[in-house]
Amino acid sequence: MLDHAHDMITRAAEKLNFTKEQTDAVLEIDNLHKATITTDAGTYDAFRFQHSDKRGPYKGGIRFHPQVNEDEVKALATLMSIKAAAVDIPMGGGKGGVVIDAKNASDEELEAVARGFVKEFHQHIGPDRDVPAPDVNTDARIIDWMVDEYEKQSGDTTKASFTGKSLDNGGSEGRAAATGRGGMIALREYARANDIDTNGLKVTVQGIGNVGFYFAQLAQAELGIKIVAVSNSSSTLVKADGFDFGGLEFSRGVADELKSVADEVLSPDDILSVDTDVLVLAALEDAVNGTNQAQITATTVVELANGPLDTSALDALEGRGVSVIPDVIANAGGVIVSYLEWKQNKAGEHWDEAHVNDEMEQIMASAMQAAAARADNEGVNLKQAAFMIALERLNQN
Ligand code: GLU
Repeated sequence: MLDHAHDMITRAAEKLNFTKEQTDAVLEIDNLHKATITTDAGTYDAFRFQHSDKRGPYKGGIRFHPQVNEDEVKALATLMSIKAAAVDIPMGGGKGGVVIDAKNASDEELEAVARGFVKEFHQHIGPDRDVPAPDVNTDARIIDWMVDEYEKQSGDTTKASFTGKSLDNGGSEGRAAATGRGGMIALREYARANDIDTNGLKVTVQGIGNVGFYFAQLAQAELGIKIVAVSNSSSTLVKADGFDFGGLEFSRGVADELKSVADEVLSPDDILSVDTDVLVLAALEDAVNGTNQAQITATTVVELANGPLDTSALDALEGRGVSVIPDVIANAGGVIVSYLEWKQNKAGEHWDEAHVNDEMEQIMASAMQAAAARADNEGVNLKQAAFMIALERLNQN
């Protein structure tokens, strides 16, 4: 994934005729903070990498996952700077991670690790320095523990040091659904620009966690699309006439509810080959490579996770005419609403959900439109266009 991030940056830099120094300045990571968190139950490697604060405080999630490693966190931190610049919000890029099997950890252990993370890194965090948020396997509950620990360690009570907090703790309306909503807006803008009628469009979703779930629910409600298959790490669930997300609430057990009405249960990797118009990749990075991309039947792929396609997959899909809506725009709804949460905290305000969604929608829609126009003008794909726009902005300050 780090290779892929570097490939994308290098290609965009070449197209922009950047000098080697300019390209290296984008590739370089400002700070690599590392620690070991020790709790009663174990020790865990932890990272907070800060890529760039040229356009604003470092910004990005913290993930809890057994496969977290330094290269992954470097790539994700770099992609955060690109993402914030591509959608033009005044934030930089960073990422954190803890090597932990969060799904099998007790609540007490998760709390101890969340607090341990802040004890280790609090001096690098702050409203104008670095503003972490949720990511894979972290949510408002974990962020609330971090905020509480941060207040204890630093005395800062603005709540603006973390985003993705619960509503009672200074969180923003609309944050939980924000990444999925942003993905829905990106698909809508893409469909509008390409005269695609979304009504009845067949969509499959790899990864039915928070992001995939809200995407599915909102895209069904607002675009009339039909979710014909979803997957998680244990299975692919197929329903030819579409799952109804209408009355569902998000929970970790939502896949069991969908399973009870599925026509067919397949293995997790089968999600790629289910017949569909649009494939939404909302699981983990590098889910699709040069080999398994051949199974994809969709004509449009949405990168709702960070880096789900590697460079060879991206090239192969482009080669056979499959369009890709790139991660740095498609999944930016989360960080955009995080930025709006940070703004509300700093101003001591709390906006209603319609206000938050409106502001996010405008930022997302104009980022998609700018990338589409750039792609047309330069004869490049949307991903290259988004990276070119981001690199120009990162190079300006
Ligand atoms: N973890 C999300 C991402 O990868 C959100 C980051 C944020 O809100 O700062 O974009």
